[in-house]
Amino acid sequence: VKSDASGSYQLYDADIKDTRAERRALDDALKNALESREFELFYQPILDLTTNQMWGCEALIRWRHPAKGMIPPLQFIPAAEESGLIGPIGDWILEEACSTAMTWGLPLQVSVNLSPVQFKRRDVLASVKKALSLSGLPAHRLVLEITESVKLTEEAVATLKRLKDLGVSISLDDFGTGYASMSYLRSFPFDKIKIDQSFVRGIMDSPDSRAIIKATIGLAKDLKMSTTAEGVETSEQLNALRIAGASQAQGYLIAKPMPREEVAAFIMDARK
Ligand code: C2E
Ligand code: CA
Ligand code: CA
Ligand code: CA
Repeated sequence: VKSDASGSYQLYDADIKDTRAERRALDDALKNALESREFELFYQPILDLTTNQMWGCEALIRWRHPAKGMIPPLQFIPAAEESGLIGPIGDWILEEACSTAMTWGLPLQVSVNLSPVQFKRRDVLASVKKALSLSGLPAHRLVLEITESVKLTEEAVATLKRLKDLGVSISLDDFGTGYASMSYLRSFPFDKIKIDQSFVRGIMDSPDSRAIIKATIGLAKDLKMSTTAEGVETSEQLNALRIAGASQAQGYLIAKPMPREEVAAFIMDARK
């Protein structure tokens, strides 16, 4: 993993992907990172638009590399998925997010991203139950985010239903960016739809983006699902989303993802 001129990390640098030796080195580094506790969860606050209070936080993983600094998830999650390490890493994410949410002093939601590989290869139900019982977090405070890359086979739907029976909520992430959004919605009664930031970005200037957001919120309401708009960066966007009837908003305007200690302070401030 390398930094390019703009300071952002290059996804799958050719020299990592191309030689097996280097790929193995990355797998070893990931394994070591898990053992050495180099992974860290950041938390991004989410605002409830009906109450104007904090709704909860989304947990977002980072790799605090001792030499290379902070590595964003898209730089290593794909490799972790290919090697299967996403299994143990995913279990750690669930346990860490649930136990952190227990320290917040307010009964806020914690939303955790699930990888399709984790979903397919792991007993997700067992992993979630374990994280809940180790942390003591009530199931109704946990939200699991999945994308359309999770194939909704009969088995997958059965697992999701069991998770809902536990009291966990299921959220459809990046809505509108996949190929099968509508049939996906029909396959499972999601609790929430997350409106992708690409639509939010266009809400002021693109009538098409605005129409898609309005239609998505209307559809979600008819299906008794709530909506979170992602990537809200300006107060104009926030106002437009309020008017359109979105349930929650998340984005740099409200707060950036931050380390565990900082989010605890943010929540303390929000109580005042
Ligand atoms: P995502 O689930 O769609 O997460 C939202 C991404 O948007 C995050 O990037 C977040 O930092 C970023 N974001 C939030 N607000 C704004 C904004 O106002 N403007 C802009 N431009 N961006 C904003 P991040 O943390 O780099 O995560 C990228 C992706 O990596 C996530 O997309 C998710 O697919 C994956 N990911 C992150 N954490 C985890 C994890 O714990 N497990 C798994 N399986 N995947 C994860
Ligand atoms: Ca997400
Ligand atoms: Ca998303
Ligand atoms: Ca995404």
